[in-house]
Amino acid sequence: MPWSRLYTIVRILYLEPMRNASLIQRDLAVLWHPCTQMKDHEEMPPIPIRAGQGIWLEDFDGRRYMDAISSWWVNLFGHANPRINTAITSQLASLEHVILAGFTHQPVVELSERLMAIAPAGLGHCFYADSGSAAVEIALKMSFHYWRNCGHEQRTRFISLSNSYHGETLGALSVGDVALYRETYEPLLLRNITVPSPDCYLRDAGESCADYSRRMFEPMRQALEQHANQVCAVIVEPLVQCAGGMRMYNPVYLELLRQACNEHKVHLIADEIAVGFGRTGTMFACDQAGIRPDILCLGKGLTGGYLPLSVCLTTDEIYAAFYGDYTAQRAFLHSHSYTGNALACAAALATLDIFRDDDVLNYNQTLAEHMAHAAAPFAGHPHVGEVRQTGMIVAIEMAKNGKTKEPYPWQQRRGRLVYRHALERGVILRPLGNVIYFMPPYVISPEEIEHLASIALESITLATER
Ligand SMILES: *Cc1c(COP(=O)(O)O)cnc(C)c1O
Repeated sequence: MPWSRLYTIVRILYLEPMRNASLIQRDLAVLWHPCTQMKDHEEMPPIPIRAGQGIWLEDFDGRRYMDAISSWWVNLFGHANPRINTAITSQLASLEHVILAGFTHQPVVELSERLMAIAPAGLGHCFYADSGSAAVEIALKMSFHYWRNCGHEQRTRFISLSNSYHGETLGALSVGDVALYRETYEPLLLRNITVPSPDCYLRDAGESCADYSRRMFEPMRQALEQHANQVCAVIVEPLVQCAGGMRMYNPVYLELLRQACNEHKVHLIADEIAVGFGRTGTMFACDQAGIRPDILCLGKGLTGGYLPLSVCLTTDEIYAAFYGDYTAQRAFLHSHSYTGNALACAAALATLDIFRDDDVLNYNQTLAEHMAHAAAPFAGHPHVGEVRQTGMIVAIEMAKNGKTKEPYPWQQRRGRLVYRHALERGVILRPLGNVIYFMPPYVISPEEIEHLASIALESITLATER
């Protein structure tokens, strides 16, 4: 290595105090960031984060940012949470990871027992993976394979909702319907049946969300009647289509869907990767409809936002269809290297402890009321088409005309303007197109909620003013 190069490395590593600028420069030389047009970083470089504490993040120049989106919906109890930190470090002292095929460990056994105890009754087995998308792939393969093992090889299709999002891998993308992520890859995707979403933003004036959700079940009923014998499962995001713009619907839809799936003997897959763990007000969104899916996919908040872990909980009936002599070739031979990682399971157990010990779901009702109160002023804004809320999610739909809901053309990137204005004011909002949302960690205070809302209102006003 030439001396000049060596000197540069020494200088970067040891001689200069780390500042945003130097890390940004090094970052852009070597990284390709997720879900990003990298050219956008010419005008808005990525922000190097030095540390996190509670709902706050701090960059290398000492600026603080409120993490109002829970670091992409994963963080539940703040950054550097002392209880989760302790759980991970004490697990680290005994076992970091072990292959989960042929071996097991205490955190993964205990986590499975405890997930089962809080999930809708009758989900008797846990299959682990390392990301939400992987959990969705597992759910799809498992459902298909179940029917195959039961002699229904003609069942090869899935029903999903328009505007749904289930992840980025090809199988998950096949059951998703957000054009921005899907369209390019269309030729590679599975043939899926898409049914119109009960998304209540689209209801008629004067119609209740419950009535609309009930009315919008009709196309689902028809799809099931028409295709049931070729369909493995219906997959939905219960109550909130998050990546699709935090679009919400009424629990009655899930009740009707459960009944219809029973009638037509089709699996119901609930993708609660984003909405699970208290986000909608109940531990799981399915709880609000009193239903049990056949497969429940969990991820994101499962580890409190610390480590990548996901899981599919399934019924004993599905599990039993794979059980038999090896030579019968019924086994589910799916795996990921880091399946059931012990550190991640320890973080998940600590997360569940916090839910139990702090009576989080109860306390969140009060927080949700504060969020409703803070969001109320947005409803009168001329460029807001709707303010909606389900539990700990508030969404504000910007529109060119708030009354008629006529949207802004996407090319204007109004959401990005909001993002920029809020960042300059120390709040991280990451709008989905024209939809601004609050999805904070559950450790946000009422005063911080007020602050968040006032920054968001100011940012929306600036972003919609010309
Ligand atoms: C984020 C998300 C996924 C994908 O999870 P990853 O961990 O990002 O792969 C799947 N389904 C829903 C509903 C999600 O919000």
